[in-house]
Amino acid sequence: MNDEPGDQCCRIAPDGQTCAEERPTEQSTCPDCGKRLRRVSAAHVMHQVRSPSGRDIKSTDSMAFCPSHGCAVVYVGGGGERFETGDLRRPPAYKTGVESDLLCYCFDVSGADALSPGGDAFVSFISDRVRDGDCACDVLNPSAGCCLGSIATYRKTRAAGS
Ligand SMILES: [Zn+2]
Repeated sequence: MNDEPGDQCCRIAPDGQTCAEERPTEQSTCPDCGKRLRRVSAAHVMHQVRSPSGRDIKSTDSMAFCPSHGCAVVYVGGGGERFETGDLRRPPAYKTGVESDLLCYCFDVSGADALSPGGDAFVSFISDRVRDGDCACDVLNPSAGCCLGSIATYRKTRAAGS
């Protein structure tokens, strides 16, 4: 049983649309925050980082994503490689602390949008799209998974003023 709120997307999304795998990689916890990592493909990392041609990423590399809010580490490689928010083309708002950065990469919802008075409407829009199978989080989102959990956590922690 997983208690991350975002994992509901895997239950409401149509078959074939799934979030990043939960199972740990060779590097199972984040070297900075200690949170459990989620496996992503090396191709996914290449889609997310700036100038991948200048980095030594091979398609067979084992890569994992750190889901922690506030932790600057985004990807960790099996060989100890680290990719931080500054290495990403579009780092997520919950890691940078910058409200104009994105939370939902499929439908362009920023941290500021999620915190705005219309925040609930953005969340229902995203939930409806997930239900209809319109998401592309597996490619677009740095986490390779659904954004709903990270948005819920982001709104909760921001509302609590931390
Ligand atoms: Zn971390």
